[in-house]
Amino acid sequence: MPLRKIVTLPDPILRRKAHPVTRFDTDLQSLVDDMVETMRVAPGVGLAAPQVGIPSRVIVVEYPEDEEQEDAPKKLFIVVNPEIKELSAETELGIEGCLSIPGLNGEVERALAVMVKGQTRHGQAFKIKAKGWLARIFQHEVDHINGVVFTDRATKVWRPEPEEPVLDNV
Ligand code: ZN
Repeated sequence: MPLRKIVTLPDPILRRKAHPVTRFDTDLQSLVDDMVETMRVAPGVGLAAPQVGIPSRVIVVEYPEDEEQEDAPKKLFIVVNPEIKELSAETELGIEGCLSIPGLNGEVERALAVMVKGQTRHGQAFKIKAKGWLARIFQHEVDHINGVVFTDRATKVWRPEPEEPVLDNV
């Protein structure tokens, strides 16, 4: 499982709508495995295929399902052709960073809860309900496969001071 190189702005692939996945073949399986490893090594909590230079609608996320639970275990989500089907009307502001935009943080308003529909790496349909930071990560990653980055949505963007805490990167 080789690591893939994370592409950064201004690479145009980050600005394009990625293609739906139609073949659940060995190329897709290698891409998924490489994305999981690349996300863990980065380290990050989410990664979308365009961030490793592949214009396909694939995202991986690794984060606790319920962050309010103490010592909540991380859970790995692999979603092919993800679509956000429901967004809560309630929103919250949060500070985001991005592996493809190193050295910038931004304050972004996102829905507090989402329902994501997609397919497993083998093509089976499933859905996930997420809230809080996990919901934010899904929104950030689905934006990536639509050519949108967090700075497009941010109400404020800044270069963090060295003493500012390191964010979960997505
Ligand atoms: Zn990102």
